[in-house]
Amino acid sequence: MVRRNEIREGEVAVAMPPAEDAGLVFIGRIRTPWTDRLACPRQGRLDGPVCRIEFDEPWAGGLAGLSGYDKVEVLYWLDQSRRDILLQSPKSDGTTRGVFSLRSPVRPNPIGTSVAALVGIEGSTVLVRGLDCLDGTPLIDLKPDRCSFTPLAPAQPGDFETGP
Ligand code: SAM
Repeated sequence: MVRRNEIREGEVAVAMPPAEDAGLVFIGRIRTPWTDRLACPRQGRLDGPVCRIEFDEPWAGGLAGLSGYDKVEVLYWLDQSRRDILLQSPKSDGTTRGVFSLRSPVRPNPIGTSVAALVGIEGSTVLVRGLDCLDGTPLIDLKPDRCSFTPLAPAQPGDFETGP
């Protein structure tokens, strides 16, 4: 795994294909206590420090109804990651694993996800515990945690389908 964009013994990088524009829009920034990747938690913890998720205009209006949940899923763009390392060596010992068997920040599309505890909402800012990203990390999305969310819309046929 790459922590400061170095490549380690045994790791394999690939040529990145040209970007295809998914039309992604950053909707805010995440404020955390961490300014160094090596000081961030590897995974957030629900009793970790309170972090501030600051929504840009006009997105704060979309927070209506969120206060009823105790956990949220946060998606963010790990903007300082390199994206080209297919086989990574998390232990820096020459043994490698594929990127899709890891939660490394180094991935073709460096999306981070965390389930965080909702601490409060102050205007356009959501306060949470449970993040692991650098201060200023761009926000992609926030939604209620899937375990506490029951769909509000009527069921659809696929909801009743089971195997094979
Ligand atoms: N919880 C997320 C997940 O599982 O998808 C992210 C896990 S990733 C292992 C967390 C690490 O990413 C941090 O320890 C830090 O080293 C790195 N990181 C945090 N913010 C970053 C950023 N903005 N750009 C690049 N790397 C970042």
